Amino acid sequence: MARHLADRFMPNECFVCGQEAGSVLVCEACRASLPRLAAVCPVCAIPSGEDLICGTCQRTRPAFDATAAALPYVFPVDRLVQALKYGRRLALTRFLSGLLEPFAPPQGAAVVVPMPLHPARLRERGFNQAAEIARPLARAWGVPLLIDAVERVRDTAPQATLPWLERRRNMRGAFRCNGSFAGRVVVVVDDVMTTGATLDELARTLKSHGAACVVNRVVARTPSPV
Ligand SMILES: [Zn+2]
Ligand SMILES: [Zn+2]
Repeated sequence: MARHLADRFMPNECFVCGQEAGSVLVCEACRASLPRLAAVCPVCAIPSGEDLICGTCQRTRPAFDATAAALPYVFPVDRLVQALKYGRRLALTRFLSGLLEPFAPPQGAAVVVPMPLHPARLRERGFNQAAEIARPLARAWGVPLLIDAVERVRDTAPQATLPWLERRRNMRGAFRCNGSFAGRVVVVVDDVMTTGATLDELARTLKSHGAACVVNRVVARTPSPV
């Protein structure tokens, strides 16, 4: 109720353009003109030109089976995600998870697993942005959310200078599963996918614990390989 009244009497400024946006965080015009990802690889969501599996995935298939990304990680999407992550703008989760809602997973054996954050990062940040995005999504999709089923046991800072294969090696053993995922379709939710090395390692771990299929749902995808 208080929230509802606050929304009515204190209109937000649009996060992108600063114009009055009523009760939403991003105004209709800015929402409609957000950059889009077109013709992406169904496996890794990198723009591939023709909705075909990209050369990288053809050469070395990642452990995950598919990826859907809502938006490319470019302005103003990068600002929105960073505001959530570092500016503690938790209200942005509603907006960002709303963008992923249309990408519902296949029903049946599906479970939602947010990309786990290392406990040291969790203490530092106070929340796991992937879990905050996953929570309303799991509810909207009617799919169970498994918050503690996977832990991040190694604090591997992404090393931008490392070539992809080394990053992949660098991620080895980063996760630990508590329990079995036998026969499950695991929907991994994350905010940003950059190289995919972290998602690849998580998928590898989930499959070694029985997952039948691992599909990623990410808010934003870095549009070109880094
Ligand atoms: Zn706007
Ligand atoms: Zn690909």
